[in-house]
Amino acid sequence: MKISLIRLAEGLHTLNFVAKLAEFDLENHPNLRDDVQITVELEKRSPHYFLKKHVRATGRFWCDRCTKEIETPLLDESRSVFSSDEDMAARDEEVHLIAADAKELDITGDIRDTLLLSLPMKLLCSESCRGLCAGCGVNLNEEPCRCAASPADPRWEALRKLL
Ligand SMILES: [Zn+2]
Ligand SMILES: [Zn+2]
Repeated sequence: MKISLIRLAEGLHTLNFVAKLAEFDLENHPNLRDDVQITVELEKRSPHYFLKKHVRATGRFWCDRCTKEIETPLLDESRSVFSSDEDMAARDEEVHLIAADAKELDITGDIRDTLLLSLPMKLLCSESCRGLCAGCGVNLNEEPCRCAASPADPRWEALRKLL
């Protein structure tokens, strides 16, 4: 994903993009779905470019307690700086060094990082999710536990006698 710098005036610009996950090598990520919407607020103050990127995608997860599939919007933002000022780039590792006559800014890596950071560590279908019964395995949000109701499996009974 590249931003063209040709004929870009000094000052503030707002740029909108829609991209596929494949563009960031994330098409096989289990928790991400297409498309990715990106808004970049770019300020050109030669020789620097200050970027604020807003990234929106769709996340797909399985509840940590009941394993139900959940789709949820993912939102995140990040900032970065591109500059041909070598001193500035040497001082600050967050600054991407570019050639003085660069024709474009490559933001692929930045957007990829922002997408990965937008993924939650832990997710529940709802705060009150009751999960799966450890005994009978039913989804306790949908039906009552069957542990007490089901008679003991005779095969287990036979095993128990051996112990
Ligand atoms: Zn759940
Ligand atoms: Zn149960």
